[in-house]
Amino acid sequence: MNKLIDSFGRRIDYLRVSITDRCNMRCIYCMPPEGILHRPHDQILSFEEIYRIVNTAVMLGISKVRITGGEPLVRKDLNLFIKNLKRIKGLNEIALTTNGAHLKEHAFSLKEAGLDRVNISLDSLVPEKFQEITRGGSLDKVLESIEAALLAGLWPIKINVVLLRGFNDSEIISFADLARSKPVHVRFIEYMPTHMGKHSYEELFFSSVEARVILGSLGELMPIENGALPGLSPGFFGRNTESAIGFCGGRMYNRGVSAAKSFRIKGFHGTIGFISPVSENFCSSCNKLRLTSDGCLRSCLHSSKSIDLKAAIRNGASDNDLAVLIREAVDSKPRSHHLGAEPAGASSEHFSMCQIGG
Ligand code: SAM
Ligand code: SF4
Repeated sequence: MNKLIDSFGRRIDYLRVSITDRCNMRCIYCMPPEGILHRPHDQILSFEEIYRIVNTAVMLGISKVRITGGEPLVRKDLNLFIKNLKRIKGLNEIALTTNGAHLKEHAFSLKEAGLDRVNISLDSLVPEKFQEITRGGSLDKVLESIEAALLAGLWPIKINVVLLRGFNDSEIISFADLARSKPVHVRFIEYMPTHMGKHSYEELFFSSVEARVILGSLGELMPIENGALPGLSPGFFGRNTESAIGFCGGRMYNRGVSAAKSFRIKGFHGTIGFISPVSENFCSSCNKLRLTSDGCLRSCLHSSKSIDLKAAIRNGASDNDLAVLIREAVDSKPRSHHLGAEPAGASSEHFSMCQIGG
């Protein structure tokens, strides 16, 4: 089996693919109110071009792809694209990150096309607050999408909550209640500096440590171990996916590498997780590459260095040439970002997450 190993010994097997820079929401932490300047359509990779890149990356050792955006469900013909990806031998998992506004309509057809699982972003359970954070989104639609995803079998379903002080930190227990009543994994994500909007970063940042203290009132947070499980029969939480959470010998495990630290709480159907890019650097286990919708391959979310695969393809690059460029991106992957080491909000990188895909 081929393997992509970077200069620091990390195995790179996960590619996040942003298929659009367009979005039907304007989350306050991700986009300015007026939105971002969209790239013209001819500057966005076609599905055929993305397919070629993914196919080559899988030959080199990528085994998991996450489709993201912008909002991936605003792009036409996504089902067909997933159907084609599904045929790539060696691609073991296709996941999607969505804001859930239109997942309800597509959950079953996406599953049928070959999508394995979804992450759904949800930053408030109070309709007015949800509208405020997303600048106009409908909470009901996202809640209906979660139900549809459960019914369609897009497991394990992860609910991503970006914690924002003064906006949703009072709802931490309500979010945890989702994991109490449903087999979903609620993950609290630390807000990363993107220099968006009128609030300062320091005002909004809410750490995982603070969230954990609040969640302690619900009972003991029992850690779920990361790691491969030989012969694991996937349990209640997931089937046939690389990153399913499953039971073995009475303990719960998270198969594969995850940026989240996950916990279970007695009596809960789902789990609670924390993704703490600012307070707790997890770069040493980073296994990702990112492909932007305009065809740039980035080896680190927080570095502006990238390799222009679109230009290469449009200038006639062969699959071998693409493979060399993908290896180059892996070789240039930095040891770490410097988010936690800088004063909050002082990151030198000015970008919108919707352009890179989170
Ligand atoms: N539109 C889709 C969605 O919202 O799920 C996919 C793209 S979005 C950029 C991917 C993820 O990045 C979402 O879970 C979102 O909450 C997260 N995100 C965006 N900006 C962020 C920031 N500044 N800090 C932390 N997470 C962020
Ligand atoms: Fe759109 Fe997702 Fe960014 Fe919100 S987080 S503005 S839904 S891309």
